Amino acid sequence: MIDMRKIGFYLLTLGLLILTNCSKNSDNDSESQKVDKSLNLKTTGDSANDILSNDTYTKLLIEIGYVTDFKPTTESISNFTEFLKEYTFKENIEVKYKELPSPEKDSLSLEEISELEMENRTAYTSGETLAIYIYFSDAPSAEDNEDEDLVTLGAVYRNTSMIIHEATVRRLSARSFSITTADIESATMNHEFGHLFGLVDLGTPQVNDHNDPESENHCIVEGCLMRAELQFGRSSKKGQLAASKASNLSGLKSGCSLSGNSVLQLLSNKSAKGSATVPLDTECMLDLQANGGR
Ligand SMILES: [Zn+2]
Ligand SMILES: [Zn+2]
Repeated sequence: MIDMRKIGFYLLTLGLLILTNCSKNSDNDSESQKVDKSLNLKTTGDSANDILSNDTYTKLLIEIGYVTDFKPTTESISNFTEFLKEYTFKENIEVKYKELPSPEKDSLSLEEISELEMENRTAYTSGETLAIYIYFSDAPSAEDNEDEDLVTLGAVYRNTSMIIHEATVRRLSARSFSITTADIESATMNHEFGHLFGLVDLGTPQVNDHNDPESENHCIVEGCLMRAELQFGRSSKKGQLAASKASNLSGLKSGCSLSGNSVLQLLSNKSAKGSATVPLDTECMLDLQANGGR
């Protein structure tokens, strides 16, 4: 015997499901049509003044897309937001997390990183909110050269886009007794964000010349967070510079790729003096202040 009331109920449920699915789809469509990504597709350093001052944007929204199990430590995210509050006038800073599946890659090129951002990023600049995207990856950089001990910890490649190679960060911190994952994450995020601030001469004009002639867009002052030494390591081979410059493909410009050993070096110097946080020097601070920073 067929129960007609049951069939009627099923049909009704089916109808409702189709209806809700349809309305969901049309909502999504109209939402994606509204998203204007153009403000987040500029070159590294282009949004320096917008990040530093409150003139156009009063809120900073930081979206952290991380591969499952590769979430950054809460300590480094708190260090990072403190860093932002120290050098910019932004006080309204929101961090939102988005867990992502692994792209299942052995390594990632800047182009692949950019494609992943296009797929996964949900926060874009609009109204009074300036959005930043940071991707914490489970794959190392395609430019790494393990034999020469040249590993990339992080890079910036547009006005509001950053990659942290979290797998590499953790492998590096496992090699040190005194330097933690949070220390390396903080130093990498802060240094790379320094380039989004427009340092050095990357969108924020210099007050006094302190750009390192041997390493464009890095500071020449000893002990500064934006010091060139951080990038390649002065004492190391020239090949490292060539490797890092190779990322200038298809219009995507990496402000810098931060090398692992130099970060360890700088952090070990710092922890000997009692603090693992690396500050900006006076010259870098003067530049930021002249471009709307605190
Ligand atoms: Zn750099
Ligand atoms: Zn400096």
